[in-house]
Amino acid sequence: MIVIIDNGHGVNTAGKCSPDKRLYEWKWAREVAQLIEDKLKAHGIKAVRIVTEDTDISLKERCQRVNALCAQHGTSNCVLVSVHINAAGADGQWHNATGWSGWVDPNASSNSKRFAQLLYAEAEKAKLQGNRSVPPYKYWVGNFAIVRDTKCPAVLTENLFQDNKAEVDYLLSAEGKATIAKLHVEGILNYIKSTGK
Ligand SMILES: [Zn+2]
Repeated sequence: MIVIIDNGHGVNTAGKCSPDKRLYEWKWAREVAQLIEDKLKAHGIKAVRIVTEDTDISLKERCQRVNALCAQHGTSNCVLVSVHINAAGADGQWHNATGWSGWVDPNASSNSKRFAQLLYAEAEKAKLQGNRSVPPYKYWVGNFAIVRDTKCPAVLTENLFQDNKAEVDYLLSAEGKATIAKLHVEGILNYIKSTGK
C-alpha cells in the first residue's frame, strides 16, 4: 500500500486563514502532512506527499499526480487523504462552529466511505467531534475535485475551524498538531488492515 497525502491549498490562497492571521491553512496543512508522512514511514508504510511546493498547485495537476501514482502502483494499492481546515464564514470574523469532519464524493466507493469512518472514529477518540450534527454514517458527502477526480479511495479531512478562536489556539499548539497527525495515521493504519494488504 502507498499512502498519498495532499496538503490542499498553497501560499497564493491568501484568504484561507484565521481572522487574526496567526493560522494559515496552506502552511498548517503542509506541516501536518509532513508529520503524517513521517509517522507513517516510522510504521514502515510507504507514504508520499504530492505537493511539496509552497505555491498553489491546481486541482487538475494534483489529481493528475495522484492518478499517475495509481497507474504506477495499482489503484487498489493506493489511498489518498487531503488535509484541510474548515471555515464557518468567509467574512474575516470569528464563528462558533467547531469539530472535525471527513468528506467523500457523492459517488464514493465503499472503501472511501470505510476509510472516512475509520478516520472519524479516531477523531472521536481524540474528542474532536465538535458542536455540529454528525451524519449517521459518520462521513460527510461533498463535491470536491480531489476526491471526485482521483481513482483510488480518497477522503478530504476538514481539521477543525480556522475561524474558531479556541480551535485556532489548539491547531497552532504542538499538542493539536500531534493529535491531528496521529488521528490520520491511526485511521490510515486501520484502513490498510481492513483491506487485508
Ligand atoms: Zn481547504
